[in-house]
Amino acid sequence: MINIMYFSGKVKDLRKFTNILTNVKGKLICCDIDNTLADVNTQLKKAGYDISKYPNPVLDQDFWTSYEAIQMFIKAQKIKNTCKILDALDELGTDIFFATSRNIRLKELTRKWIEKQGIWNEHAIYFTATKHILEADIYIEDNPEQISKLLSLGKPVLIPSWQYNQGFDNENAIYFNI
Ligand SMILES: [Mg+2]
Repeated sequence: MINIMYFSGKVKDLRKFTNILTNVKGKLICCDIDNTLADVNTQLKKAGYDISKYPNPVLDQDFWTSYEAIQMFIKAQKIKNTCKILDALDELGTDIFFATSRNIRLKELTRKWIEKQGIWNEHAIYFTATKHILEADIYIEDNPEQISKLLSLGKPVLIPSWQYNQGFDNENAIYFNI
């Protein structure tokens, strides 16, 4: 029997989640990094940035390769509920990989951060902003633009619930608490 107690979210989303788990063996799982696996938002908030809207225009391409951002990536804590979901999916025989829209120059830093979290260091990391081209079966993603695109392609998306990504009312949109 599958232990589903790690799921933290609304009842209707739990039902969608258990539906996904019934036939998940061998499927490809694409997990985003920033604010899905790594809680960068808490670091942004501490530094005084507005994280209620996405994207925040102040946080442009240049920002995300700045010294300030890099310190945030390093300091970010892992999001425990995402880790629990990944553990469960892993146990069920899925194939998990990571995808991020971070600059490829941050490859080593990103790999080290994941390694430091103690798990999954054998999983591949793809650096791309267009995650749908990776053709995973299930996505874990916080970015509203990406979520919208993935849902339009009929992909199930597990969504860590942030203020800026609410309102996707779709059979394939499954919110979980951070
Ligand atoms: Mg993200």
